[in-house]
Amino acid sequence: MPEQCTMTIDGGGVLGQTFLEVRNPATGAVFAQAPEADPAQLEAAVEAATRAFPGWRDTSINLRKKALVKAAETIEAHADELTQLFVAEQGRPILGARMEILGAAMWLKATAMLDLPVDVTEDSATRRIEVHHVPLGVVCGIVPWNFPVLLAIWKIGPALLAGNTMVLKPSPFTPLCTLRIGELLRDVFPAGVLNVISGGDALGPLMTAHPGFAKISFTGSTATGKRVMESAAKDLKRITLELGGNDAAIVLPDVDVDAVAEQIFEGAFHNTAQVCVATKRLYIHSDIYDAMRERLHALAQGLPVGDGSQQGNRYGPVQNEPQYRRVRALIEEARAEGLTLLEGAPVPDKGYFIPLTLVDNPPEDSRVVTEEAFGPVLPLLKFDDIDDVIARANATEYGLAGAVWAADIEAATAIAHRLDTGTIWINQNLQSTPFTPLAGAKQSGFGQENGVPGLLEFTRPKAIFIPKAA
Ligand code: NAD
Repeated sequence: MPEQCTMTIDGGGVLGQTFLEVRNPATGAVFAQAPEADPAQLEAAVEAATRAFPGWRDTSINLRKKALVKAAETIEAHADELTQLFVAEQGRPILGARMEILGAAMWLKATAMLDLPVDVTEDSATRRIEVHHVPLGVVCGIVPWNFPVLLAIWKIGPALLAGNTMVLKPSPFTPLCTLRIGELLRDVFPAGVLNVISGGDALGPLMTAHPGFAKISFTGSTATGKRVMESAAKDLKRITLELGGNDAAIVLPDVDVDAVAEQIFEGAFHNTAQVCVATKRLYIHSDIYDAMRERLHALAQGLPVGDGSQQGNRYGPVQNEPQYRRVRALIEEARAEGLTLLEGAPVPDKGYFIPLTLVDNPPEDSRVVTEEAFGPVLPLLKFDDIDDVIARANATEYGLAGAVWAADIEAATAIAHRLDTGTIWINQNLQSTPFTPLAGAKQSGFGQENGVPGLLEFTRPKAIFIPKAA
């Protein structure tokens, strides 16, 4: 495992004057360093991307597609190394880590199948009007720590396919896999097309304020998303924001509790509940509430939580210390309020581990219900009436995703239509595809990623009026 990865600027490897410490969340110990880009290095990355833009824009889309496929194959060829690095910096157990690396490669290949449409809005005797979708220029990509590789690829794929160049910044908590991918792809894209720089808290705001970027594609918390939007407003940069969520799942009384409990559990606790579209509020019909609570508690007590590098652990630690402290504080506050906590299996003493925790029917206005925990604590909430539960599910500033669990698919679909979110799953969870836009409603996002609509966010329309010979 590399102890240090380099940044990629203008096709070359660059170290920083200073370094970030990278900790393994399963131990809390520093195991690697990452370069900390200074303002001059950001400048060099933007300049390199600016120089590379005309050549990449004018490269045929078929050659750009080929480059994406080659990038995917390169990632696949290094899947073992990247998986090991991923487990060490992110904490997720090996199987899930590998799924993210291979899933990212699959996503790149699928993105390479997309085409930029040319819309013809008039084709008359006198003229033809064509609307082309042309690249914007240099794109700034900013990514969080929960799915560091996949979410970076969601930006790299469509931005480069559309003909833009990019400067990408991973989270300071998980910089290594992204830096390593930058190193691996140096021979795949022309110099300057994909630059990867890492840094601490100061780097993101410097990037969003930089006039060299035509667009910011940001994934992270709603609070930071608002700062990004404010900063982008100064020179009207285009933005796509994929932000937080407090997703509700609704379980109707006709479900087979034993058959669905484990899927519902995984939908809440996958990646130790650090998933933007995880179930974060679970509304269970009162007829089956007790049975479902018992089943979920048994799962929490039975599924092993531990160091992701050791076989057999289903869930890993919380990814970083600030998040660990936040989630612990939320749980302690619930305990102090006298709420009933149902704890899962004991967890290791060192590292950022928290037992998977259920909260038994807390008041709707408790912080554990109203806030996005983004960690392993799930409120179970009782309901009797469909109109009431839909109103409660919608009573949030977020609108990312949600789920309905039911035997009666028609009834579930009717509920799905009444939930104010960008995605709703019926009897499934956490699904997304390269061809389906993910678009948060309300304060969960602005714009969309994936599919042709996501690709078009990296372009601007350009209408050409072409006269016909008289
Ligand atoms: P965060 O907002 O703290 O950080 C995200 C990224 O922004 C990091 O790279 C960080 O360094 C950078 N950053 C921090 N301050 C910045 C600033 N002022 N300007 C520019 N960049 C800045 O989020 P996080 O804690 O890393 O991630 C967790 C959040 O991300 C959760 O709310 C989760 O729901 C959300 N998320 C959303 C999606 C989605 O697709 N909607 C996916 C994953 C995670």
